[in-house]
Amino acid sequence: MLADLKRLQDLDDLERGDRRALEEDQVRLREAGARLESFETRFEEIRQELEEMKNRHLRLEGEAAGLSAKKDNNEKRQMSVKNNNEYAALQKEAEFLRTRLGEVEDEILELLEKIDRNDLQSADLSLLLAEERLAHEKAVTEIGKAAAGARERLGLSAERRQSLAASLPPAQLKQYEEIAKVRGGRAVSAAADGLCLACRLAFPPQIYNELQRNEKILNCPNCGRIIYWRGHPDFKEEESPS
Ligand SMILES: [Zn+2]
Repeated sequence: MLADLKRLQDLDDLERGDRRALEEDQVRLREAGARLESFETRFEEIRQELEEMKNRHLRLEGEAAGLSAKKDNNEKRQMSVKNNNEYAALQKEAEFLRTRLGEVEDEILELLEKIDRNDLQSADLSLLLAEERLAHEKAVTEIGKAAAGARERLGLSAERRQSLAASLPPAQLKQYEEIAKVRGGRAVSAAADGLCLACRLAFPPQIYNELQRNEKILNCPNCGRIIYWRGHPDFKEEESPS
């Protein structure tokens, strides 16, 4: 019976572990999604910036062409000028056109440099984004597989737990559940070297002797958990190597 209680505890421990792993996987999945999203956003920002700069470049080229045409026209009119007033006005216009054309050409050069830099940045980011998308896809697949495994184990252990619980005397099961509720799910603890391994209390020799005989169910006088002696043949083979 004590061995069954320990088996029940082992199943509950496994279940807790699987549930925790499932929750952690969900957190990892959300984090991976958020990371990819921030990459996508940054990439989209750079792409939009680039598009705006290219549009601005087109507008500036248009303006430069218009200014050049006006400049040619102004030069032609200067050749057939009729009076000083007209000449002065044409000179003033020519000065304005030269200045503005200079400004526009400077801005075009500056913009072309920026577009080059942005193109490179965008190409780098596009590579990173492709890697990030692959990594995300891989994480989703891996986490999905792990989660499916955990769910399958949970289903199996739920079945085993149910039949194990049904085979236990109801009073024992009730005691187990009550202790588990107040002891963080750990109702059963191993004892070794005269100690309860859960709360580290040293047992009086009489209790420890009784425990080693493994004839009845005992509780730790300190933490109340159901205790078993780890050295008894009933439990030895079930102990994990750790
Ligand atoms: Zn204890």
